[in-house]
Amino acid sequence: MIVNKIYNYPKFRKRLFFLNKSQKWSKYQHEKNQLYNLRKLYNYVKKNVPFYKDYFSGRKNFKIKTLDDLKKFPVIDKNFIKNNYKKFLSVKMKKDNTFSRTTGGSTGNPLTILSDLNFQINDKANTFHYLSIFKKNIKKNKSVRLYGDKIPQQILRKKKYWYKKNQKQLIMSAFHINSSSIKSYVKVLQDFQPEYIHSRSSIMFLMASLILKEQIKFNLKLENIFVDGEYLTFGQRKFIEKIFKCRLINIYGHTEGALVGFNCEFSNKMHFMPQNGIIEILDSKNNNLKKEKSKGIITATGFNNYMMPMIRYKTGDVASIGKKKCKCKRNYFFVDQVEGRLQDYVLDKKSNLIPLAPAIFNYNDMDWKKIENYKVVQYQKGKIIIQVQLYLKTKNEREVLNTISKKLKKILPNFIIKIQKVKKIERNTIGKQRYLDQKIKII
Ligand SMILES: [Zn+2]
Repeated sequence: MIVNKIYNYPKFRKRLFFLNKSQKWSKYQHEKNQLYNLRKLYNYVKKNVPFYKDYFSGRKNFKIKTLDDLKKFPVIDKNFIKNNYKKFLSVKMKKDNTFSRTTGGSTGNPLTILSDLNFQINDKANTFHYLSIFKKNIKKNKSVRLYGDKIPQQILRKKKYWYKKNQKQLIMSAFHINSSSIKSYVKVLQDFQPEYIHSRSSIMFLMASLILKEQIKFNLKLENIFVDGEYLTFGQRKFIEKIFKCRLINIYGHTEGALVGFNCEFSNKMHFMPQNGIIEILDSKNNNLKKEKSKGIITATGFNNYMMPMIRYKTGDVASIGKKKCKCKRNYFFVDQVEGRLQDYVLDKKSNLIPLAPAIFNYNDMDWKKIENYKVVQYQKGKIIIQVQLYLKTKNEREVLNTISKKLKKILPNFIIKIQKVKKIERNTIGKQRYLDQKIKII
C-alpha cells in the first residue's frame, strides 16, 4: 500500500502536536504515559499476537503494575523473530492495509517488518518533529534527499543523477558519486542552495573526502545535515562539519521503527523519545544496565507497531549510557554514543571485540584521500582483509597501498592485515554501504 501526503491526515497533525507538547513533560509524566502504552500493548498482544498469546496463556494472573514489569517479557532478537515469523504477526492484520520494509539486507540477514497506516503516520510525525526542533519543514525549507534513490533512465542518460521533486526538494542518488562526478554534484547543490540535506554518514563522508581531494571551492548556505541509518564516529562528524561548514544532526531510527533518537539543539548525545517506546541497555546476559557510561546493547520496545510488535527486541547496536540531564531540559533517555553494531566489530586472536569504525574513520590518523572506496572483510580471528578501490589515474599504486597497510598496522597492532586491490566496491540497494563484511558469527 502506498500513501502519499501522510501529513494531510488529521491523525498526523494530532500526533505532531502531541510530540511538540510532550517534549516538555516531566519524567513522571513520561513514565505515566509509557505505563499506559505498555499496558495497552500487552492487552493487545496477549489476545492478537500468537507468540504472546502462547507465552502468557500459562501466566493468567500476570498484570502490568509498573514499568519494571516489562522485564517479565522475554528478550527477542532478529533471528528469533525470523524463525517464528508468523507468530509475531497480529491476527488482525489486513493485507490491503499493510506496509512492508526490509531491514539489514546488507548484513545478509534481512527481516521484513510489516506495519499499518497508523505506524506510518507516527513515523512521519517523528521526522517532522525532529526537523522542527531545528526549525526545518519539508514543505517550507529547501532540502536535498541524498540516498540510494533510483533515478529514471531518461535522466541518467543525460548524465544527471538528480531531479527536482518539487520547488522545495531535490532528490540525488548516492550511487554515482565519484571523483569525476563530484564537481557536478557540488555545482547542482550550489545552484539549488538547500537549507538542509538528509543523507547517510558514509555518503556525506565520501562527498566530503572527494571535495577535499579535488579541491573544489563552493559556497553553500547549509544550516544542517541530517544523517541516519548508519553509525557515525566522532572523526566522521568533525570532518563532514568542517567541509560543509554546518552542524550535523545524527538520527537513530532502525528500520524496525521501535525507537527514535536524535541530537538536540545543544548536544550530540542521542536523545531517545519516550513517546515512541522504551529503551533498555542490556548486557550479554540480558541484565538491565543503568549506570552512566556502562556499555550494552540497545533493546527496544515500540509502542507504534501493533501489526508486528517489537517488545524487548535486542537490536545489536552497542551503546554507552549518557548523563541523565541535558541543557535542552528534555526528560529523555540519553546515550553518549551509539558505538556501532555488533557486526561492526572485528575479533582479535583472543576473541576480543574491537570496534573497527573509530580506527578507520579517524581522519587524522588514517589518510583515505588517495582511495576512492574501501571495505574490510574478516573471515578469521586476528586477521582482516582491506579491499581497496583506487582512483582510476592513481600513480604509484604500490606505494599508496603500502602506506595504508603501514598506518593500519599501527592502529590495529594485534591484527594481520592484508590489502587487496579491487575494481569496484558496491553499495547495496538502499544506498547503504557496510564498511565491514563480518563473516564470523559474533552473536
Ligand atoms: Zn538535549
